Amino acid sequence: MMEPPAPRCRLCGAGLPEPFLEVTEDFSLVRCESCGLVATSPPVAPAGIGRWYPPSYYGEGNRRFNSVLEGMIPYFRDRRAKAIERFVSKGKMLDVGCGRGILPALMRERGWEAHGLEFSETAARHAREELGIPVFVGSLTDSPYEPESFDAVVLWHVLEHVPDPAEALAKAHQILRPGGLLVVAVPNFESLQAGFSGRHWFHLDVPRHYHHFGVKVLKRMLKSAGFSVADISHLSIEYNPYGWIQSILNRMGFRFNLLYDLLKNPSARSLKSPLLEAPVQSLLTVGVLPPVVSASFALTILEVLLRRGGTIEVYARRTGGE
Ligand SMILES: [Zn+2]
Repeated sequence: MMEPPAPRCRLCGAGLPEPFLEVTEDFSLVRCESCGLVATSPPVAPAGIGRWYPPSYYGEGNRRFNSVLEGMIPYFRDRRAKAIERFVSKGKMLDVGCGRGILPALMRERGWEAHGLEFSETAARHAREELGIPVFVGSLTDSPYEPESFDAVVLWHVLEHVPDPAEALAKAHQILRPGGLLVVAVPNFESLQAGFSGRHWFHLDVPRHYHHFGVKVLKRMLKSAGFSVADISHLSIEYNPYGWIQSILNRMGFRFNLLYDLLKNPSARSLKSPLLEAPVQSLLTVGVLPPVVSASFALTILEVLLRRGGTIEVYARRTGGE
């Protein structure tokens, strides 16, 4: 019998050592000793990853949360739009992993020519049919865009989901004009919350996340793909306080991501009715929330001060070809 080939680092090709952290029964984390990139082991074959994205991952009509939280989404998309416009004021943009198309629709309103790319046909349909956004369904690598045709490419919590991040960055480089803006938002594996939470970290999300980036390794990847980093933000009110809240609850021994289920709409839950199926835990969760939420906002500020935010946003320019 042939042995399967030894796993290799996607970034530098070095052989990988034994895992350093067991996350679930089936998945662990392994760190490349040569470049420092952390990967989920074993990686799910791209052909099999679909079953890790059931319809409930997206929620019915691509709405994951209860109506109060859904109501906050336009505010957070508005922040994303303004962050992009700090670097490029107008032009043609691509939102990779555009979901139901809220960001491209907003960018179009602000005078941009906006395109979307989405892996899920169902999500793409909303963007395309309801909002009239041109959406390519598939991977960035397979996308048909012309070289140097975009002024901005946005990878908002996408890079950790693709099997080969270096390949995705190379493609982003190819379709951006020289000087164009690349936005990469990812969970920060070197954050305080990642260190505190270990396998309980909310933003770990294995096996959907193939890789777990720190600032240094991400900067190196961007540099070798032909980008120069203009700014890194460690403050995300949308992602970082919640990362703390859920990770603290997970570490306290509550049912994994129970609060997240309580906040979602029923079509997106793993427990259909958490209050009926786990009543004591649900009530206790609500009971401990006030101190946990306060602590989480304080810790989010501490992460910013120490430049170790739970998720980071990197703004980079495409270099070369000028
Ligand atoms: Zn490596």
